[in-house]
Amino acid sequence: VQEESGWMPIDPTKPYDPDNIFAKILRGEVPCNKVDESEHSLAFHDINPLAPVHILCIPKGQYVSWDDFSKNASPEEIADFVRFIGKVARDNEMVEQGYRLLANIGKRAGQEIPHLHVHLFGGQPLGPMLA
Ligand code: 5GP
Repeated sequence: VQEESGWMPIDPTKPYDPDNIFAKILRGEVPCNKVDESEHSLAFHDINPLAPVHILCIPKGQYVSWDDFSKNASPEEIADFVRFIGKVARDNEMVEQGYRLLANIGKRAGQEIPHLHVHLFGGQPLGPMLA
């Protein structure tokens, strides 16, 4: 897929890179348009929205991907992140009309940023759109 599309997806075999852009956002070194935060999670608007509402939710801990997070995060971090994503959707009035969660994991999915992020899409009929 990398060769076909020109994407530069992450290499999931590499350790966490603390210089990735979401790590910089978490440290306050790069600005973001924040939506909400909790003890273990942060939500902000995607810089290149693919839908009228396009929010990214990330854990504050250093997890490369859903694979890393689901194996290595604590029960508290996992519970916080799952509940946080649901709350962000409710608070941004995405539930009644419907919304979509999506996480790209690793090379063939085209994951570009090596820090777990879950996309929330809403605000329009979504059809078969992928990100
Ligand atoms: P992926 O393709 O890895 O699933 O998604 C990466 C997402 O991060 C893309 O939708 C892209 O627009 C978004 N993104 C990349 N850099 C930044 C940034 O600096 N700030 C914000 N808010 N979003 C970013």
